[in-house]
Amino acid sequence: MSQGLVTASYIVAAVLFIMSLAGLSKQESAKAGNWYGVAGMAIALLATIFNPEVTGLGWIIVAMVIGGAIGVRFALKVEMTEMPELIAILHSFVGLAAVFVGYNTYMDHGELSGAMLNIHNTEIFLGVFIGAVTFTGSIVAFGKLRGLVSSKPLTLPHRHKLNLLAVVVSVVLLIWFVQVEGSTFAMLVMTLIALAFGWHLVASIGGADMPVVISMLNSYSGWAAAAAGFMLSNDLLIVTGALVGSSGAILSYIMCRAMNRSFISVIAGGFGSDGVAASGEEEDGEYTEVNAEDVAEMLKGSSSVIITPGYGMAVAQAQYPVAELVSKLRAAGVKVRFGIHPVAGRLPGHMNVLLAEARVPYDVVLEMDEINDDFDDTDTVLVIGANDTVNPSASEDPASPIAGMPVLEVWKAQQVVVFKRSMNTGYAGVQNPLFFRENSVMLFGDAKDSVDNILKAL
Ligand code: NDP
Repeated sequence: MSQGLVTASYIVAAVLFIMSLAGLSKQESAKAGNWYGVAGMAIALLATIFNPEVTGLGWIIVAMVIGGAIGVRFALKVEMTEMPELIAILHSFVGLAAVFVGYNTYMDHGELSGAMLNIHNTEIFLGVFIGAVTFTGSIVAFGKLRGLVSSKPLTLPHRHKLNLLAVVVSVVLLIWFVQVEGSTFAMLVMTLIALAFGWHLVASIGGADMPVVISMLNSYSGWAAAAAGFMLSNDLLIVTGALVGSSGAILSYIMCRAMNRSFISVIAGGFGSDGVAASGEEEDGEYTEVNAEDVAEMLKGSSSVIITPGYGMAVAQAQYPVAELVSKLRAAGVKVRFGIHPVAGRLPGHMNVLLAEARVPYDVVLEMDEINDDFDDTDTVLVIGANDTVNPSASEDPASPIAGMPVLEVWKAQQVVVFKRSMNTGYAGVQNPLFFRENSVMLFGDAKDSVDNILKAL
């Protein structure tokens, strides 16, 4: 393949990646967006491995077959609820790859000298730094999502000063590295600091801020890939890395705004939060338990119903009977809509994907901001496997660890039915006063079984 053809293929791939991002921003075009991404990546891979400068094609193909087989196996096996964990671990690979590329380029930087060598050394240093932060940060995020590490924020004494110190020492090491023309000592010490820094940054972020962390690590992995692109002089890697880096940063910003969190405070490892641990599992008050037949009666007497799904609906795979329930109620003339919190579930858009899978019409699926004023005029709210995203303490208790986060104001409806299996807390580990309100009732059990039972009773 000639260099001209490689460059042309890279331009086509870059355009396809941009079309992919545009497609993925809307439910209706998301499938096409996915295909644009697949096509772009296939073209990019072929152009890269058949680039005349690439040697050792046999080894590359062996590595691709092994990597591809592992990827396909994981993609087929992974549950929707495990997607954020998979994404986190994949980000860690991008970070590790940037570290390896950095060390490789450091050991073999060709004929460069003078200002060019200084620029090249700066690229290497920054690439390894961002890669190492992404690597350990993503591993901690994986551990937190998988439950291997506590989801509560780690609050080391002077943690913000420690973070600042890590950044200042790294900047000093960068200057040293460039001036001493690639001091191995500076490179090794910086790598260790960056590994510890990435670990500490994510460990000190609390459970409810994890969605932002995942999208932020997505952004970091993009910048790590862009840095690797600079080191390898690969234009497509620079463009792709910058696309991932900036879209991840924009998503993090949007999520921070939706959750009323300061973007700077989250990316600086919980900077500005007082580090209060979640208040635990204690119950506070009495709750009323109902059965599926009671809920069927409530629904029969309702003219407007809002369903607020959460992580539990995904765990139970209850979206199919929920879709059936919706069409049954709509056929009986009941106004039924969904209220989707921006961080419901375990990744942004999780609930939208599940409801689309069960063929729930898009026009009854509304975002939190679109539906929050309507709870006052609603007869019945079905909270299906949601907890933190409907917790009134977020708006009513300034001492709550989730204080200030906008939530679906379900308690304003006439009656609220909470579907869950026990009185356990949600992801943020905070007790939910909604369960003890006079207009709330609890329907215990697996969400899918509960909805199936309601369907039978209807
Ligand atoms: P929560 O994690 O707050 O609550 C889920 C609820 O589902 C729990 O109360 C649980 O109670 C219940 N549940 C679990 N399994 C079942 C089942 N089989 N049947 C019925 N109920 C079940 O979920 P939300 O969606 O309300 O909130 C999302 C949380 O996750 C937020 O704190 C958010 O910050 C965080 N998060 C979100 C991410 C994102 O990008 N969206 C990423 C990472 C974290 P019980 O065990 O008693 O059944």
